[in-house]
Amino acid sequence: MGPVIQSLLRLQEIETQLWALRDALTAKNHAVNAQQRKIQQLQQQTQQKLDQLKHARADADSQELDIKAQESEIGKLRNALNTARTNKEYNAILSQINSDRAEIARQEERGLALLTQIDQMDAECRQAQKQIAQAQDRLDALRRDQQDAQAQSRQDLDKLEQAKATVADSIPASVLDQFQRIGQSFNGQAMAAVTQPDHRGSAYCCSGCYMSITIDTVDVLMSKDEIKQCPNCQRLLYIPPEEP
Ligand SMILES: [Zn+2]
Repeated sequence: MGPVIQSLLRLQEIETQLWALRDALTAKNHAVNAQQRKIQQLQQQTQQKLDQLKHARADADSQELDIKAQESEIGKLRNALNTARTNKEYNAILSQINSDRAEIARQEERGLALLTQIDQMDAECRQAQKQIAQAQDRLDALRRDQQDAQAQSRQDLDKLEQAKATVADSIPASVLDQFQRIGQSFNGQAMAAVTQPDHRGSAYCCSGCYMSITIDTVDVLMSKDEIKQCPNCQRLLYIPPEEP
């Protein structure tokens, strides 16, 4: 194996570590963002419930006022009973009082149902607010975790970037460019070993995509420090050193 391919393999190792570190950080960022969206959703749902509760309370208040107004109306009708001049007038007023009382009873029943509903909504709102507080605690923990990971990996990333720059110096610019470009399509894995799946036969294939590789390519890779790409996946090929 020639020095350029050796450097590329070293670069591949560094690249693998860089991608793993970045992936870990990205996963933590995603977790924070997902938790933020969850809290936003919970807040919207809770606000809706709070609005409904506010309306229900306003309804209950206005019902109570209606009942009071009707009760005062009944008071007036009772006084009118005393001054009724005819039996017919008296009976008419009495009938009005009874129908008003029946209406009040119906309203009181509705009011009671509404109060039960309000209690339930109130409990739901409290529960939802508790959920938001818990989700917020979880978000804080995720953020701390994210910041810790960022601080810890900063040094590692710097070291790896430095090592990468050093190794990259020994690789021709055009090859390095190829390595970076291909690596983008394969999570940093621009290199692929040429393997012989059935050890008895002579068929060679790319370990990245399992397409066959010609014997001519294998010969070049074995005898020269030349860059050969897999004709199918475009990865840069190398012959792995023989197991001792
Ligand atoms: Zn391939």
